[in-house]
Amino acid sequence: MTLQKNPQMFSLGLKEVWKVACPEYKPGYVIHTAGFPLGTSFGGGFLYCGANNYASVGLIVGLNYKDPYKNLYEEFQRFKSHPKVRKFLEKGQCVCYGARVLEEGGYHSLFARHSAPGVIMVGSGAGYLNFHKIKGVHTAIRSGKLAAENIFQAMQKNELNKLSAIHNAAVDKSAFVRELRDIRGYPGTFFVHPYLGYAASFLASFKPTRNMINALPFKKSCPCWMNTRPAAYYKKKPVYPSHDNVYSFDIDKSLGLSGVHHEYDQPSHLKIRGEVKDYEQMSVELYDKPEERFCPGKVFEFVNGELKFNAQNCIHCKTCTIKVCFEDGKMRVVAHGEDRVDMPRGQRRSQLVCLDYK
Ligand SMILES: Cc1cc2nc3c(=O)[nH]c(=O)nc-3n(C[C@H](O)[C@H](O)[C@H](O)COP(=O)(O)OP(=O)(O)OC[C@H]3O[C@@H](n4cnc5c(N)ncnc54)[C@H](O)[C@@H]3O)c2cc1C
Ligand code: SF4
Repeated sequence: MTLQKNPQMFSLGLKEVWKVACPEYKPGYVIHTAGFPLGTSFGGGFLYCGANNYASVGLIVGLNYKDPYKNLYEEFQRFKSHPKVRKFLEKGQCVCYGARVLEEGGYHSLFARHSAPGVIMVGSGAGYLNFHKIKGVHTAIRSGKLAAENIFQAMQKNELNKLSAIHNAAVDKSAFVRELRDIRGYPGTFFVHPYLGYAASFLASFKPTRNMINALPFKKSCPCWMNTRPAAYYKKKPVYPSHDNVYSFDIDKSLGLSGVHHEYDQPSHLKIRGEVKDYEQMSVELYDKPEERFCPGKVFEFVNGELKFNAQNCIHCKTCTIKVCFEDGKMRVVAHGEDRVDMPRGQRRSQLVCLDYK
C-alpha cells in the first residue's frame, strides 16, 4: 500500500481568522497570491471573506524550502504586511490562529493501493487534496462516502474478504482521483523551480494548456526534509520585522488563539527516535536548530544545546514529522505516535494515523 510513484510533497498552511471592518469586505470575495514574502521558495497566500464580517487570511509554504533559517511563523506575519492584505485587516481583530500540513503531491504521489485488509484510507491523509485549488474538503467527503458505500455493500453481500480489492478498483475510477489526474503535471513543476510552478499553476487553469503541463516530464521529487541545506550555505540570515501587535503578533499571543489545550504536566506526545544526544548535536552543528523556526507552535527550544519540548504549545500541524532533516532516517521527531514508514530512500512517508492519540 505504501509504494507511491513519487514520495508525497507537503506544504504548511498557517491561517488566522479575523473579524474585519474593511468597507471592501464582501462575502465570497477571494484573493490568492503567489510568491510574497517567500522569495525563491514556493508558496503563496490567500484571503477568503466568509459570512458575518469574518475573513480567513493564510500563507502556504512549500516544505521543500532549502534555507534552514526560514521562520515559517514570521513569514506569515510578514505576509499580512502586504498592502492588499493589510487594507482588509485594518481596524479588524484577529480571533483565531492555526496551522496544518497539506499534501501537495497530487496524482503522482498517491499510494499504489488505497486500502488493505482491515484498512481504508480516506481524505487528505490518503493524498486526495487538490492542491491546485487548495481544496480537499470535497475529496475527503467523497472518498469517505465511497469507502462507506463499499463497506456497506461488502457487508450486505458477505464479501468483506474482497473489500480491499473492490475499494482499490473503485477509487481508481472515482471522480476525485480523475480530478487529481486532470492536473497531474502541475505539482512536479514547483519542485523544479517555484517560478516554473507559478507559471504551470496559471496554465493548468485552462484545459488546452493543462494538457501541455500534464505532458511535462517533471514527476520525480524527493522528500521535503532532504531539500534542507546545511546552515553553512547561508551566510545571510533572514531578518524579520518586529511585531506591531496590530497586524502581526508574538507567537505566544497567537497560540492563545489556537484553541488547543493541553494539561501543563501532560506527558509529552513528542519524542526523538534514535540517540537524543546525536540528534541534538547534528541539529545544532549542521542545521543550526531549524526546529525552532519551522515549528509554528514554538514547541522546540534548545537550551545550552539540549532540546526541550514545550509540548503543551503543539498545535498538531505535523510539520516536524516531515521537515526534520536527518538523512539516515534513524533520527526523527515522532509526534502523536506517528512515524515515517521505513521505506527505501526517497520513498518515506509520514502522516500515518495512530490510534493511540490522546
Ligand atoms: C490553511 C489551509 C487552508 C485550506 N483551505 C481549504 C479550502 O478553502 N477549501 C477546501 O476544500 N479545503 C481546504 N483545505 C484543505 C482541507 O482542510 C483538508 O483537505 C480537509 O480538512 C481534509 O479533511 P480530512 O478529514 O481528510 O482531514 P483533517 O480535516 O485533517 O482531519 C483529520 C483529523 O484526524 C485527527 N487526527 C490526526 N492524527 C490523529 C491520531 N493519531 N489519532 C486520532 N486522530 C488523529 C486530527 O486531529 C483531525 O481532526 C485547507 C487546508 C489548510 C491547511
Ligand atoms: S511540534 Fe510538530 S506538530 Fe506540534 S506544532 Fe510543532 S511542528 Fe507542528
